[in-house]
Amino acid sequence: KTTSVEEIKTIANEENVRFLRLMFTDILGRIKNVEVPISQLDKVLSNKMMFDGSSIEGFVRIEESDMYLYPDLSTWMIFPWESERGKVARLICDIYTPDGKPFAGDPRGNLKRVLKEMKAMGFTDFNIGPEPEFFLFKMDDTGRPTKQLNDSGGYFDFAPMDLGENCRRDIVLELENLGFEVEASHHECAPGQHEIDFKYADAIEACDNIQTFELVVKTIARKHGLHATFMPKPIYGIAGSGMHINMSLFNAEGNAFYDETDSMGLSETAYYFLGGLLEHARGYTAICNPIVNSYKRLVPGYEAPVYVAWSGKNRSPLVRVPSARGASTRLELRSVDPTANPYLAMAALLQAGLDGVKNRITPPPAVDRNIYVMSEDERSEAQITDLPSTLHNAIKAMRKDDVIKDALGTHIYTNFVEAKRMEWAAFRQQVSEWELEQYLEMY
Ligand code: GLN
Ligand code: MG
Ligand code: MG
Ligand code: MG
Repeated sequence: KTTSVEEIKTIANEENVRFLRLMFTDILGRIKNVEVPISQLDKVLSNKMMFDGSSIEGFVRIEESDMYLYPDLSTWMIFPWESERGKVARLICDIYTPDGKPFAGDPRGNLKRVLKEMKAMGFTDFNIGPEPEFFLFKMDDTGRPTKQLNDSGGYFDFAPMDLGENCRRDIVLELENLGFEVEASHHECAPGQHEIDFKYADAIEACDNIQTFELVVKTIARKHGLHATFMPKPIYGIAGSGMHINMSLFNAEGNAFYDETDSMGLSETAYYFLGGLLEHARGYTAICNPIVNSYKRLVPGYEAPVYVAWSGKNRSPLVRVPSARGASTRLELRSVDPTANPYLAMAALLQAGLDGVKNRITPPPAVDRNIYVMSEDERSEAQITDLPSTLHNAIKAMRKDDVIKDALGTHIYTNFVEAKRMEWAAFRQQVSEWELEQYLEMY
């Protein structure tokens, strides 16, 4: 990883980089960027690039709109696919106010704040391994996405069923060019659906990787005449796209979730972290499943979680403990979908888990049977609650959870809730095709 100003200047010159793209993520998880010519490199590297924060949704009011971009030099990357007009390099930035303080509305900076609390508790890293899923749709002649999937393959299928294979391979090659270590890539259960898993990293780097990943997937898909979407449930009646999050805490000795003397190989820290994840599950759902469509995925029957429970074996609960132990000991949260702002999601999950560690929250017993087939009575007997069923319910649950509010900080929390309240209100007033089909003739 490149880290010094001098190194970046040398490489930019040698590689004939012509443009710099300064990237950050807004509260709603969208990648924003300001592009400047390479002549501005000195200014950029000395944290003097300014932008108008009021033009970015949920950032600041007009009267306090000047914001500064502080590039994180370790994120330097030259994009390989735009070399016709000279090369373009990117730097991911933190956002600072004019008086040199981290801006409270910057999701990346906010995650750094929560990571400091983690370090104060004696941990060194919050490691994240994401498993993003996405669909490939055909595009029409004008380059707009159609509603047609590009193949009819299924889980782990081979070509010629899996027509997305070449596209997926190109995506993987491109990711490797960019320094990603891709661990697996396969066709998912639904037609046109794919998954690419890359190696875990500490929270900030993992979130940066997720943002870069989505950019690469969309760019390469377009070259194949395909539209890649991370929308959680594009088609009724088939599986949706999740982004399982594998997490572990490390300390100076290594993986703090592993304990070989325990019957499940899990440490006390792991159990308490799990306790916190379950305790706050309803509170962080709005962050991990942030759009109206997210809740169309969280329904029984498609390997997406609906209930708050955990298991060492079964895949229907919210949290699964994958079988690997030692340094790979981890908890897999299965509710998250790829529309989540990764920086906000990791801040919320970390705060939830750490709350479990601080307050020694013991998780309920593991549920090793298929929860989808349990009755309501059996579920309440086993202390299993439901995840929020709509964005509206998720926002209500978040408002009751002070730990999750703390994880976001007041600025982000307020702006997030306001944006989501409006999104829900707009959706709620729509009259859908389903309603017309059901009611138009019947009444
Ligand atoms: N697509 C499923 C989901 O919505 C997950 C399927 C899997 O990875 N086993 O989460
Ligand atoms: Mg997977
Ligand atoms: Mg999967
Ligand atoms: Mg998984």
